[in-house]
Amino acid sequence: MKLKRLSDTEIKQILELMDAVNTGHFVGASGAHLDTYIDKDAPGSHPIHLMHLGHELAHRINEVCRLEDNDIVALVGAPMGAISLGAFTAYWLNTLFPREDGIVIQSLYAEKTSLTDDKAPFKLRSSYAEKIKEHGVIAIEDILNSGGSAQKTIDIIEKCGGKAIGVGALCNRGGVTADKLGVRFVVSLIDLNLQKWDVPKGEECPLCKRDVLIDTRLGHGQRFLDEQKQKA
Ligand SMILES: [Zn+2]
Repeated sequence: MKLKRLSDTEIKQILELMDAVNTGHFVGASGAHLDTYIDKDAPGSHPIHLMHLGHELAHRINEVCRLEDNDIVALVGAPMGAISLGAFTAYWLNTLFPREDGIVIQSLYAEKTSLTDDKAPFKLRSSYAEKIKEHGVIAIEDILNSGGSAQKTIDIIEKCGGKAIGVGALCNRGGVTADKLGVRFVVSLIDLNLQKWDVPKGEECPLCKRDVLIDTRLGHGQRFLDEQKQKA
């Protein structure tokens, strides 16, 4: 199968086709209010779109780190949404830029150690840890918001003795940089500079001011409304 490279406009169109880009009035995990919500779970649900996105991400990863010169043995997807993107990206890396020594770049994933504590570190099963020891690894994330989940993926790669070289992501909406994550590169298919208002830190949300209804279907809007009710 031959796929063509995607332009920024086409990437945005695909995300819109996948219903990943939502506009309205939302509350993010940190409590900040948002006028656009990128649905992390939407991209993983459409295999054809995902294959195109993985193809483009493989090209962009190769452009920044020239895979053939490196010792990259695996991509490690952050749980859960990035796992399928990681698998497609690994497929295309092996197809387009196969290692000369015949080693196949593996598609691995990290796991959460807690479903309720957002700060809990990730873990890597021991057979995966063995594969990446002393070798280069790229972390895969779907949406980079604050970069917290990508950081935890990098941390577990390093803890297992792997070398976290960079991060490949579908969307960077928080201006997450390689410097911040302590890796050589962050590549994303789309960088969005989206508005957010840090309401927990006292910033005023213009949407609240205009009484725009908070969308509770995505994000943490319901939690915010419940807290408001308790305060009233
Ligand atoms: Zn608001």
